[in-house]
Amino acid sequence: MIWDELTSPQLDKLSRDVVVFVPIAATEQHGAHLPLATDRMIGWHFLTQLEASISDRILLLPPVAIGCSEHHMDFAGTLTVSHDAMISYLEDVIGSVSEHGFKHVVVFNSHGGNSAIAQVLVESLGPRFSGILLAITWWRLAIASLLAESKTGAGGVGHAGEFETSLMLLIAPHLVNMDLAVEKANRKTYPWAEGDLLRGSHISLYRSMQEMTPNGVFGDPTHSSAAQGQRITDIVVERLCHVVDDLFVNRSYDLPK
Ligand SMILES: [Zn+2]
Repeated sequence: MIWDELTSPQLDKLSRDVVVFVPIAATEQHGAHLPLATDRMIGWHFLTQLEASISDRILLLPPVAIGCSEHHMDFAGTLTVSHDAMISYLEDVIGSVSEHGFKHVVVFNSHGGNSAIAQVLVESLGPRFSGILLAITWWRLAIASLLAESKTGAGGVGHAGEFETSLMLLIAPHLVNMDLAVEKANRKTYPWAEGDLLRGSHISLYRSMQEMTPNGVFGDPTHSSAAQGQRITDIVVERLCHVVDDLFVNRSYDLPK
């Protein structure tokens, strides 16, 4: 079910065991070949696919479209909010969901710059939240399966790279310009600080995207395909289904490998 599409009396009749998803995303540059809404479209795609299969068990809030993207601000079109504003806003949103009696809330993240915030939110709000509060960043749901799907090696599963481009070729091919898809433009690298979405770095180092890759692309989008986008979707949606199932029957969740 989609929160926006229900009337107030319809929503009032729902079981409070329904799992409420709060999608958080970004509006930011994704190289020359992908649109600014890429992260939001990808996150919403996974959730609507999930909703299509288990509609009666989940409720999707409207996505939070602008996230923490300070590191992309050198690129035109990027919008950003501060970490404090993001946490405070999400606390209020989740608080109002809770006030309506819903017991299961999942913050569903599709933007790297929001990952740390989602973690802090669970740790800061969790102890005060009367139900179960989760934060999920999609590429961490099934790391082993997603790594097996990656064709472009280390750095491949990065911003505007192989995976995001494949997903956008599936979701909105008319918004993808593969003629402009190019590999990451390397600048100075630090071995201990390099990683991608699936292979985290050993040390956190602040660099703007402009410093890391002047063309705004991380990894290699030139091997992407809609077929791969479908396989990634199947992996992620299946894992999400398990999470919802386990919340519904209130048993412990065996973490995927
Ligand atoms: Zn992205």
